[in-house]
Amino acid sequence: MKKEIDGILVEAVQGDIASQTDIEAVVNAANAELLPGGGVAGALHKAAGPELADAGAPFSPISPGEAVITNAFNLPNHYVIHCLGPVHGIDRPEEKLLRDCYVNALRKAEEKEVKSIAFPSISTGAFGYPLEEAVRTALPAVRELLGELRSVSHIRFVLFSKQDLTAYERFLESEY
Ligand code: ADP
Repeated sequence: MKKEIDGILVEAVQGDIASQTDIEAVVNAANAELLPGGGVAGALHKAAGPELADAGAPFSPISPGEAVITNAFNLPNHYVIHCLGPVHGIDRPEEKLLRDCYVNALRKAEEKEVKSIAFPSISTGAFGYPLEEAVRTALPAVRELLGELRSVSHIRFVLFSKQDLTAYERFLESEY
């Protein structure tokens, strides 16, 4: 589904974050070392090639809530914005740290004058954050920043499962 808010297109789709051909910056649900791993990081590093880990090395390790930006190499995008989400039950305060990921990713995108950005559902895989709780943090965090954005005019949430997409769509329809 799509919505236009303050002149910004916000949408949620089901798909693979490594296949967003029409998007300038894709967000990585990174690990602290900015290395390949499972899930989103695995898919992005595999598609980008080994240069992506080399590009992340000078920033490593990053802290929960932090975002850093690198080139995207063989991905069909210009940039990867690497965010370290909180591990549920361990990194606290987890709601603030998850929120920081989305805010800091959008700030990095603005610094590079990025027009379009795609987010996966940060922390809700290996890091164990319940999806419904993550939706209630991620979507308001982005919503509150929309009025400040000067460059970003297209924000896409890319969900791997139909169930996750439904949760995002429900929130976007009823509470956005
Ligand atoms: P984290 O370690 O931050 O929890 P994961 O990559 O393990 O990150 O998972 C985050 C979310 O991304 C999960 O909902 C997972 O199902 C989903 N996911 C996994 N692979 C992909 C992919 N290629 N594209 C989009 N989403 C993905």
